[in-house]
Amino acid sequence: MATTQDVAQLFGSNVFNDRTMKERLPKDTYKGLRKTIERGEPLTLEVANVVANAMKDWAIEKGATHYTHWFQPLTGKTAEKHDAFISPTADGGVIMEFSGKQLIQGEPDASSFPSGGLRATFEARGYTGWDCTSPAFLKEDAAGNVTLTIPTAFCSYTGQALDKKTPLLRSMEAVSKQALRVLRALGNKTPKKVIATVGPEQEYFLIDKEYYLRRLDLISCGRTLFGAPSPKGQELEDQYFGSIKDRISAFMRDLDIELWKMGISAKTKHNEVAPAQYEMAPIFSTVNIAADHNQLVMEAMQKVALRHGLVCLLHEKPFARINGSGKHNNWSLATDDGMNLLEPGKTPHDNEQFLLFLSALMISVDKHADLLRASTANPGNDHRLGANEAPPAIISIFMGEELTDILTHLGKGEKATSRGQSYLRIGADTLPDLPKDNTDRNRTSPFAFTGNKFEFRMVPSSASIAGPNVVLNIIAAEALDEIATRLEKTSNKSKEISAIIKEAVNKHGRIIFNGNNYTEDWVKEAKKRGLPNIQSTVEALKALVTEKAGKLFEKYKVLTKEELHSRYEVYLEQYAKQINIEALTAIEMVKRQYIPAAICYTSRLAKTIQQLKGAAAPAVVQKEILSKVSDLLASANKKLAALESALKKAQSVGETYAKAVCYRDTVFKQLGELREDIDALETLVPTEMWPVPSYADMLFKF
Ligand code: ADP
Ligand code: MG
Repeated sequence: MATTQDVAQLFGSNVFNDRTMKERLPKDTYKGLRKTIERGEPLTLEVANVVANAMKDWAIEKGATHYTHWFQPLTGKTAEKHDAFISPTADGGVIMEFSGKQLIQGEPDASSFPSGGLRATFEARGYTGWDCTSPAFLKEDAAGNVTLTIPTAFCSYTGQALDKKTPLLRSMEAVSKQALRVLRALGNKTPKKVIATVGPEQEYFLIDKEYYLRRLDLISCGRTLFGAPSPKGQELEDQYFGSIKDRISAFMRDLDIELWKMGISAKTKHNEVAPAQYEMAPIFSTVNIAADHNQLVMEAMQKVALRHGLVCLLHEKPFARINGSGKHNNWSLATDDGMNLLEPGKTPHDNEQFLLFLSALMISVDKHADLLRASTANPGNDHRLGANEAPPAIISIFMGEELTDILTHLGKGEKATSRGQSYLRIGADTLPDLPKDNTDRNRTSPFAFTGNKFEFRMVPSSASIAGPNVVLNIIAAEALDEIATRLEKTSNKSKEISAIIKEAVNKHGRIIFNGNNYTEDWVKEAKKRGLPNIQSTVEALKALVTEKAGKLFEKYKVLTKEELHSRYEVYLEQYAKQINIEALTAIEMVKRQYIPAAICYTSRLAKTIQQLKGAAAPAVVQKEILSKVSDLLASANKKLAALESALKKAQSVGETYAKAVCYRDTVFKQLGELREDIDALETLVPTEMWPVPSYADMLFKF
């Protein structure tokens, strides 16, 4: 077990971080690089050469033989191609080399990455460019390979973004610029930069590898397409924060160590609500780094799980009828000198700066609820949003009583007051009085103000967090831009501030909802308020190609209309492809596993009935079961044929949107219907004849 001392030594030991750079780089080089990192000043090849050499020496000392430009294509996963440091010498040997040019730029063939029509095959060239704001690090694998991993952005030959990082970096600049304008207008001249900070809480499942390997649906889709409910689900609420089983705890310890080595501040770990479900939360960081780290977290979870004979499932809904997984994306804005712009302080009612930033968020979330929804759309999340465990597909903000009260008064042009610190008496003399938070917790809101940050809870567990944060940054930038412009123009600042807040409350106050978001009443109420309720990925993605989105993204130079459109195409295609895989998997399992198993059972029953003919005992029960199983078998077979024909039709549709619609309305629907029969069969066929592990096996047997 790592001791406290070890942890401090271990943390960041595989990162070429600021401390290492200071130690290993000549002073001038270090200063030059910092200028690029902090202020975006161009990096000279001279500086790059020195940095590359120092990085290489450091990496080799730690056992590295290769380097890779690590990037995040639109698949939502990461990509890497490894190059050895070797360079041949005249005498037949090699030396280890790594130049500034190799550090700054790579040229992977881009033709096999999704581009949504941005890149014709004849322009297959793609470029990766070093993102020096996210530190390079070493990746180690179980075989002992150590690779110097350089975070990079990925774009096409013509400079169009083909990845998740590029728009994220652009959106960070946009929000920084506009937030700074607001601060300047308020008379605060000190900060040089505003940083979007994010702490993503990652939910996941662990199941025994033996079970996983016997389920084609988990292997190829990441979720179970079939499975009768286990007798016990999550109804006893005994898993959440429950004592962690030793086997899981061993996994979590290894995971912590892996993450700490890569400088990822894994902080919190606990059992989640569903059986076999867990969560890990790091300490927040700059969003770009948080996004990179979250990718590494997901990768490490999967790798470390295998070492423990477990498999980590990151899908949004691996098991029907119990909770799925999400990511709680905690987001705020901070100045480079450490001020959290969403910190209400003790008296939020007279904290103009806080109220302005809060108003900006209200305005932007209401105006662009559709974009936020689109940024969380994926086929997995369609199972989760609105499924009584996760926020519905309606975006609203939880503000808490005190802030809502303040905003309501300000909206009416009245004076507002803060409640000040209140204390909670537990009622036993030996227990201390606890200071109470200004906002209560509301676990049902998709977008909750939680003290000094917003927690966006719709983010899917398996996806990159880049997309949702691009949207958060850019919509905040727009509202802050408008606020800054008004403040810069006015001669009476305090009057203008009141007017801005009042207007925000009156125009956009409908976005605030503090009640239970899981109820039918809220769905009705939201409809009355005119808030969009977008159920499926296919519909949600349309928000990316509206006139409104195009203008917004172009204005802040985050994505061109063309780039946005390419993403729309890619995500729609991904949707269709994912459902296609699910359908093919279901067909295979039903044809080759479930139907044969049910047939075996019917023939066994038929044999018994035959044997009992003429015997004194009448085969009443056997006949009853046989008839039930045969009926389900016939029905399943019919639904299988219907699924096959729906699939054929969907495959033949050419246009991307129509194709996705066809998959959703026919293939996906048929799949659900087929599942009903198979799940019913599972409850009748003997355990030893059933070809795959059950929900009870996977969720409870460790
Ligand atoms: P919960 O009870 O919802 O799990 P935590 O207090 O554990 O909440 O925090 C959740 C996440 O929010 C952590 O990753 C934490 O670092 C992050 N967080 C805290 N403050 C900020 C902030 N100012 N900006 C972004 N994330 C933050
Ligand atoms: Mg949380």
